[in-house]
Amino acid sequence: GTEVRLAARPDGWPTLENFSVVRAEVPAVGAGQVLVRNLVMSVDPYMRGRMNNMRSYVPPFALGKALEGDAVGEVIASKSPGLAVGDLVLHRLGWREFAVVGAAGAVRLDRGHAPPAAYLGVLGMTGHTAYAGLLHAARFCAGDVVFVSGAAGAVGSLAGQVARVRGAAKVVGSAGSAEKAAWLTEELGFDAAFNYKDGPVLEQLAKAAPEGIDVYFDNVGGEHLDAALVMARMGARIVLCGAISQYNDTVPAAGPRNLLQAIGKGITLRGFLVGQYDGVKDQFLTDMSGWLTEGRITHRETVVRGLENAPAAFIDMMRGANIGKMLVNIAD
Ligand code: NDP
Repeated sequence: GTEVRLAARPDGWPTLENFSVVRAEVPAVGAGQVLVRNLVMSVDPYMRGRMNNMRSYVPPFALGKALEGDAVGEVIASKSPGLAVGDLVLHRLGWREFAVVGAAGAVRLDRGHAPPAAYLGVLGMTGHTAYAGLLHAARFCAGDVVFVSGAAGAVGSLAGQVARVRGAAKVVGSAGSAEKAAWLTEELGFDAAFNYKDGPVLEQLAKAAPEGIDVYFDNVGGEHLDAALVMARMGARIVLCGAISQYNDTVPAAGPRNLLQAIGKGITLRGFLVGQYDGVKDQFLTDMSGWLTEGRITHRETVVRGLENAPAAFIDMMRGANIGKMLVNIAD
């Protein structure tokens, strides 16, 4: 089968030369394992960190080896009593056509409940991040004014909608195009949205939320975080979910210029990883499934076809080519 390997570690922005798309022997299926034919896989910002040779909360990708990431596929051979041929599974060995997965690393999915792609977005890791980040890390309360950056992306689009469903006084989003900003206000129910490329973030945020903000859900870092600190109200909570504006920097970015604001306003800044919130995963799935059924949450995927296009999909996602969750369709 075909697989995508890390050919070279990037310095700054990755290019297609950092990847190689090769034919590889499919390993034999051992006891307790299943052979999975992947249907759809996720490309995620955290993968940029794994391309560096630096240990963080996840180990780096190995040079010359297939990359990894969430994928949904169909079991086509099984040596595990718990999984049968034809089962749909969520697992961690994306970036390849065929994966041999230990049964412990595969979660069986209910075929009738949602399309496979949903388990990589709205009902998957990114949905869980939005839910836990807003309701638990940020300790969101009804009546809060909420600002979300990266708001037309996978996590941001859901974080803003969860705030709305749970009774935010106002939800403001920022994203990188007029089309994205229009999607937020016209389809997702954000009260206001702006294109951060149109002018200084602080000016645009001050216009959208002159009363100030209680929660900032930060996917971006940099200028957005500076602006949020200025517009924060007393006791505001800022959750540091990601800092995608800095992932391809070759020199570390300067810290937030307006950090002093945190003192006088008693602001809480809290970083978090979705993995810290495994305990609320069942509640997230129950709530999110309910909101989807009731039509209160909208989700969207940008789907690139063909495993060979996965490297381009990953790079394009970091440049903002996606609306909602960026996915790669491997097989139908
Ligand atoms: P997205 O779907 O949001 O895709 C990334 C988006 O980032 C792009 O579409 C682009 O949209 C935006 N972007 C790129 N460069 C910039 C920039 N310089 N300034 C502002 N926006 C930029 O990805 P995810 O939803 O998967 O991830 C969103 C964030 O959440 C990331 O920072 C990620 O690392 C983080 N994350 C954190 C987790 C955790 O456990 N803490 C778990 C999952 C994700 P645009 O057109 O608007 O620029």
